[in-house]
Amino acid sequence: MSTDETLLIQTGRLVTCDSLQATDENPLGASDDLALVVKAGRVAAIGEVTNLAERFPEARVIDHRNGVVTPGLVDAHTHAVWVGSRGREYALRMAGADYEQISKVGGGIVASMRAVRAASLPELTEALAARLTRMAALGVTAVEVKSGYGLDEQSERRQLEAVARLGGRRDLPAVVPTFLGLHALPPEAQGDRDGHGARCLQWLEGIAADGLAAYVDAYVDRSAFSVAQARPLLQRAAQLGLGIRIHVGQFADVGGAELAADLGAASVDHLENVSAAGAAALAEAGVRAVLLPVASFTLGQSPPPIALLREAGVELVVASDANPGTAPTESLPLAMALAVRNYGLTVAETLLGATRGAAASLGLSGGVLREGGPADLVLWNLPHEDDLIQPWGGPMAALVLRDGRPIAGALRAPA
Ligand SMILES: [Zn+2]
Repeated sequence: MSTDETLLIQTGRLVTCDSLQATDENPLGASDDLALVVKAGRVAAIGEVTNLAERFPEARVIDHRNGVVTPGLVDAHTHAVWVGSRGREYALRMAGADYEQISKVGGGIVASMRAVRAASLPELTEALAARLTRMAALGVTAVEVKSGYGLDEQSERRQLEAVARLGGRRDLPAVVPTFLGLHALPPEAQGDRDGHGARCLQWLEGIAADGLAAYVDAYVDRSAFSVAQARPLLQRAAQLGLGIRIHVGQFADVGGAELAADLGAASVDHLENVSAAGAAALAEAGVRAVLLPVASFTLGQSPPPIALLREAGVELVVASDANPGTAPTESLPLAMALAVRNYGLTVAETLLGATRGAAASLGLSGGVLREGGPADLVLWNLPHEDDLIQPWGGPMAALVLRDGRPIAGALRAPA
């Protein structure tokens, strides 16, 4: 197909995820048998097929009456710029090796750090592009990508430059770069967490000046960085006009939720451990909770207190956490399946959290299908949105459009 052709897509079911179309009984704003028109990268119209065919006689008709159409999925939390392998370490851990033994074979975040430091910019870019291509095939049209495996200035920048290089690629999902220098302590820091925080603060100036990050993240947890160590970096990020996302409460509640609320963060991510007061503070400040069920599954952890978050009114987002250690998958659909199975989210909560909520947390206008909005959407080889959750996690997209152009799948001529 030519890339800017006008398309009239007949659907078996159209899930808009649009709050303006939603009701209590129909939270996804879904309707059977609607059609939509894609023109010049936007959703030009949604309505009855006969009416749209008259209004857009030039449109090429795509018959998807056997399937459901949703907004493109948005993955709001990934560590997708990595190279190397952590398979050996996983095998050892599963066979009962303890942390020390794994460290001895060079495992953990430092293993990925070594691999990333040794990789060239083209190597990092190529690894990320391949990953984004596979994510597109899973129905993903936008991806947040964090640094955090460089852990020195040059290597952190190289990770972010790899993201920037792919920012102009129209044949891949859109990318949103996040600086996560405060992810782990590199060996040369010799245990000095305050010192690493101070260095990240220095690196941030150049990263912001060169437009290499839209967000700044920090890993605030018992075995990572404290609120006091993270606050200066995140405050500076806000002064520089960057957004804030924070890894919070994966292992212990050390006050990260309150910090996020205080700084007006876009999201807090993980949140396996959060108090009622922390949840209330998040809701009050409008901070979204990015849930990462693949990580808690891999680590054998209990789910976050979902009922508490719901009751407080915190908006829930679901993301893959794609990384080589604790979430070794690129599949946002797998994370969605686990959100339902292990966290008890409804299908509607999960799908909204992987579309509208995720996009909003990244400051993107996608994640809903609405007249005039971007034509980021997926034609699924599935009859209903419930089928996105079960069967689990596979590539079931027939066609994925970003800004009206195919980034995965193939358009077949109507019979
Ligand atoms: Zn993460």
